[in-house]
Amino acid sequence: MTAADVDLPAPASDLQDQLVDWYEIHKRSFPWRETTDPFAILVMEVMSQQTQLSRVEEAWTAFLDRWPDIHSLAATRVDVVIAFWSSHRLGYNRRARYLHEAAVQIVEAWDGEIPEDPASLEELPGVGPYTANAVASFAFNAGGAVVDTNVKRVVHRLLAMDTADEPPTHGAVADVLLPPGRSRTWNNAIMELGATVCTADPNCEECPWQDSCRAYDTGDFRAPDVPTQAAFAGSRRQYRGRIVRALTSGEPVALDTLGRTVRVDYDPAGEFGRDWLCGVVNDLADDGLVELEENDVGTTIVRLASSGYDS
Ligand code: SF4
Repeated sequence: MTAADVDLPAPASDLQDQLVDWYEIHKRSFPWRETTDPFAILVMEVMSQQTQLSRVEEAWTAFLDRWPDIHSLAATRVDVVIAFWSSHRLGYNRRARYLHEAAVQIVEAWDGEIPEDPASLEELPGVGPYTANAVASFAFNAGGAVVDTNVKRVVHRLLAMDTADEPPTHGAVADVLLPPGRSRTWNNAIMELGATVCTADPNCEECPWQDSCRAYDTGDFRAPDVPTQAAFAGSRRQYRGRIVRALTSGEPVALDTLGRTVRVDYDPAGEFGRDWLCGVVNDLADDGLVELEENDVGTTIVRLASSGYDS
């Protein structure tokens, strides 16, 4: 599958600029984002496989205090490394063995220099395509697109893959989105979006791709790790934001018109119809954000609270 087969909802360059600008402002601070030392990054990527970042931070710092470079790790007995891993509750202790084996291999086969290209990195024990591209990106700015659960969720929704006839693979979309020569920033940015905004219960109001995203258009937030429609409470929060946005001109809007504005599948008598919309709008009214009234012909109209509209 080539770039021409991936039907992006907006030009790749626009999506790239929007996400990178967002990332520069909103990125979380982690110590491994302050370094390009390939050994420190390899350790971090192996540690963070299947382990929460909050638990990795302390262990990563302690590991680098004890083994500051590839030579010191390679010269240590493997059982000492496994004991460290276990005592820091990192889980999956086999990763400690792989990391030690990788250190020995790098010292013996690459003279202690961690290879820069993903294909060579993948030859190391315990290093798959994701870790290889992550290390190549974050250490050398020379990786391909990383495709983890977060990235799959983001691109799946951006293209509304569940509703596409012949969806591309997640990897193909990630490849097309990757700006050439910017893998360090880009891979960090798209994973950050998935980890903090485009989560299982997405917070689309904070997303730089809201105007382009097909899932946002349809309200269908399914993804590979979110196989059914997101929890009602989560979707509801999205629609609260959309309703308020639809009323920001200050003009009152009839209930059904509002429904059709905020979701394409609005059907007054359907599952997500008038009853559903009244529930969301009444919640907003209880919160003092909107006001409801009936016009002369008995139609419910909604307006932003204190919009100054004079009926
Ligand atoms: S608009 Fe929402 S669903 Fe779409 S990418 Fe952003 S957070 Fe995810």
